[in-house]
Amino acid sequence: MKFVLILSLIALFLCSHLSLSFSIDPIEPSNLLPRPLILQYTSSIEEPSDSTLTQLRCDSWRFAVEANNLAPWRVVPTECGPYVRDYVTGLPYKFDLEMVARESLNHARTVEIKGDGMDAWIFDIDETLLSNLPYYTSHGYGLELFNAHEFDIWVEKAIAPAIESSLILYEEVRALGFKIFLLTGRSEGHNNVTIENLKRAGFLHWDKLILRGPNDKGKTATTYKSEKRREIEEEGYRIHGNSGDQWSDLLGYSVSSRSFKLPNPMYFIP
Ligand SMILES: [Mg+2]
Repeated sequence: MKFVLILSLIALFLCSHLSLSFSIDPIEPSNLLPRPLILQYTSSIEEPSDSTLTQLRCDSWRFAVEANNLAPWRVVPTECGPYVRDYVTGLPYKFDLEMVARESLNHARTVEIKGDGMDAWIFDIDETLLSNLPYYTSHGYGLELFNAHEFDIWVEKAIAPAIESSLILYEEVRALGFKIFLLTGRSEGHNNVTIENLKRAGFLHWDKLILRGPNDKGKTATTYKSEKRREIEEEGYRIHGNSGDQWSDLLGYSVSSRSFKLPNPMYFIP
């Protein structure tokens, strides 16, 4: 009898706890199946301030730029001018550049260098090896429409500084035994100032510098750079890595085994 009583107490205890554990909230009409699976945000999100909203919108804009979802685009949206200025002059841009360089080097180290001198890495120049930030500092960080004449004057000064993380990557990649191709949208008329600037910034010993010739005029960067990559391949080189700040440096045909996109929220080149 005592045993039965104990069993009854245990059963009562379990039933009461199970009923608690398995109690189900009342079914809301919106929870009825079938229903679309839509990400639900908590209702506790507070209404952000205007400055926070601007920051969030500009975050979204920059994400769309870097993911190449927003293309083409002409200038930085007015409300994102201060945001882009703070980004490119602050630690976020530096850290993003360092991240790209680190992952590029990680990839480069995995490549088996054949020793026949035909393993190649391509670098773009502007906003990839050299920074034109001093120019853009006095031209609205991308708020102003690109002015080719003013930019040429800047280029001809040959004083664009190196992007430090890219300089380190460049030297490491070269030391690993890659042939270095510099493929730029600059015109052949800027050959000498480009060499002068590269050397001044610390970039030495590349294997080939390719600039836009008369036959490349009017071509999109995607077409021009694809054609040049194909020529490199036809010479027998294996392109293992390609570093550029524009998707037009990286897309098209004869693409590299791995492409590395450096950040650039200041301008877009098709
Ligand atoms: Mg570039």
